[in-house]
Amino acid sequence: MLNKKSKKVYPIRSCIGCGRKDHPKKFIRLTIDKNCDIVIDKEFKMGGRGAYLCPDISCLKKALKRNKISKSLKVDLKDEMIEKISKKIEAGIYNFKIKEKINKSKSYG
Ligand SMILES: [Zn+2]
Repeated sequence: MLNKKSKKVYPIRSCIGCGRKDHPKKFIRLTIDKNCDIVIDKEFKMGGRGAYLCPDISCLKKALKRNKISKSLKVDLKDEMIEKISKKIEAGIYNFKIKEKINKSKSYG
């Protein structure tokens, strides 16, 4: 019997900055909202075209250098968009490594 919900099979995405391959939820998903603005799809619930990026400002910079975001999302990147996204990443509000942080915090006492 085929079970499509099997957890063993999951999609692999790669970071548009460094090319690292991992589970999509380890990345920040960038997508376009209805106003053609770049947004972070925090809940992974927005459909449409998406670009995956490590929650790391250096990967964002790499992606920007190669114009990867606008290529992936088929949109013209405005400076304000870049600024908005980079600020969010720098602020570290997307704590994708929560589990790791919990584990690490133990060693700090
Ligand atoms: Zn990366």
